[in-house]
Amino acid sequence: MPLHDKFGRPITDLRLSITDRCNYKCVYCRTGNEGALYGDLAFDDYLRMVRVLVGMGITKIRLTGGEPLLRKGVVEFVRELAKLKAQGLKPHSKDGASGAAEAAPFQIGEGQKKRVTRRSAPRNDNDFGGARDVPLTDFGADPLDIALTTNGHVLAQLARPLRDAGLTRVTVSMDAVDPDRFARITRVPGGFDHVLAGIRAARRVGLWPLKVNCVLMRGFNEDQIIPFGMFAREEGVIVRFIEFMPLEEDRVWSPATVVTLDEILARMAEYRPLVEIPHGRSETARRYRFDDGIGEIGIIAPVSHPFCGHCSRIRITSDGKIRTCLFSVWDHDLYAVMRRGASDEELAEFMRSVVQKKEERHHIGEPDFVPASRTMVHIGG
Ligand code: SAM
Repeated sequence: MPLHDKFGRPITDLRLSITDRCNYKCVYCRTGNEGALYGDLAFDDYLRMVRVLVGMGITKIRLTGGEPLLRKGVVEFVRELAKLKAQGLKPHSKDGASGAAEAAPFQIGEGQKKRVTRRSAPRNDNDFGGARDVPLTDFGADPLDIALTTNGHVLAQLARPLRDAGLTRVTVSMDAVDPDRFARITRVPGGFDHVLAGIRAARRVGLWPLKVNCVLMRGFNEDQIIPFGMFAREEGVIVRFIEFMPLEEDRVWSPATVVTLDEILARMAEYRPLVEIPHGRSETARRYRFDDGIGEIGIIAPVSHPFCGHCSRIRITSDGKIRTCLFSVWDHDLYAVMRRGASDEELAEFMRSVVQKKEERHHIGEPDFVPASRTMVHIGG
């Protein structure tokens, strides 16, 4: 049986943090005083965890951090992960072998198969392939989707090697299109040009769909909404706005700091109206196109429009702990189980039992909200 939690949600999506170090000090994420707090594991350890999970039905892996591109050997790691594509959707075998040779008792769902549409990258600067060719889901054609979330600072050099190694697509975080504002948010001078070069390199080499994520925080960058709309159209990328969540080191979150989905839509309409388009059930973003069909915008609204009921994610932290929700108040030490000499089957059993403990929903903004036991940079967003 593929992984399901006790609420019947299929678990198909893994976020894997490969370091909690970061070279940016974004005001909504880090204090700037704390460095890495947790260790990294050897890539072979992550690879084994992922291999077992792929055997259990995980079809999407997103590498994250901290800043994952700071980790030496990340390209080689992606190459090793890509070898698991042959194992995608095949069962985990009892003897610890990859399972690639066995008949798969579960297959890609009918609905999912029909809806798979792989977006092609724009061929030139005037070809907004991403905006026009809109699939109903996020899924690529691969049985195993290998994605990466990065601040993009060193992406320009790594985009091609990563693509050649088997990376499917990339999401770049960028919280302002104005270079000075960008520097004020990241607290790193001169980063904007690097990130823009990274976005363009990723697009050039066909890491597609290419998403640019912007966390909006009141008082810092809500005036960037319209410039980002223009950016999406000019650069041919999907811009996604994310509501600020209480996961920052500084504990500055309050409901008033959140720029909500409704507000984003209203602000963007002053420039051009957005028209909602279908999105996959487990997709975090609501998706929109501009009324003339050019440019796609996503809005991830976990605060004002929670999507926990369709959550298909688990996370593994850089030090090998499983987290079943961004807002978990505890985690589950997978690496400790591995270190004790567990077989693949025992690891799978442990993972299955942990998934059963997945939280029904988060409690952001409610009186009983308890902050997560780790902040975003140390979980892996
Ligand atoms: N360093 C990589 C990057 O910048 O994309 C990966 C790690 S970063 C923690 C992952 C994502 O989480 C980024 O898009 C970041 O903007 C987002 N993020 C961080 N703190 C957040 C918060 N409190 N609320 C919402 N999103 C947050």
